Amino acid sequence: MKCEICGKEAKLKRVMVESVEMMVCHECSKYGIVLPEKRRVKPVLKKKSIPYSKDVFEEMTVEIVPEWGRKIREAREKKGMSREELGAKVGEKTSTIAKIENEDLRPPDKTVKKIEKVLEIKLFQKVEKEIVKHREAKPLTLGDLLKNEK
Ligand SMILES: [Zn+2]
Repeated sequence: MKCEICGKEAKLKRVMVESVEMMVCHECSKYGIVLPEKRRVKPVLKKKSIPYSKDVFEEMTVEIVPEWGRKIREAREKKGMSREELGAKVGEKTSTIAKIENEDLRPPDKTVKKIEKVLEIKLFQKVEKEIVKHREAKPLTLGDLLKNEK
């Protein structure tokens, strides 16, 4: 084995010279940092099981459909039902049905479900919401909110 610096035949040392690993003789070893004799063994790092944290996850929420008032009215009219009749079937006053159809009143979910049954329509929809949990999360801008609406 020859020294990689001076070329002298000698017992060589593993030396780090300017971040390059070289096999050099004793004299040349002073140019660098002598590394331990032992063959370097790559440290076997135990894979730490990092708790899996999702930054982004999806959540399903149930929301009332857009234009639910109009949908209720249309479905009711299709069935040839009066507001009175619908009100009687779902246990609401005629005036309440009118308010619901005008979307002046958001009926409780229980009532919406009754209306769904009576009119055989779907008034709830599943909405996929992407919730982003980030420490650096920027506050949502109005533009972002509008984008999410679609
Ligand atoms: Zn040398």
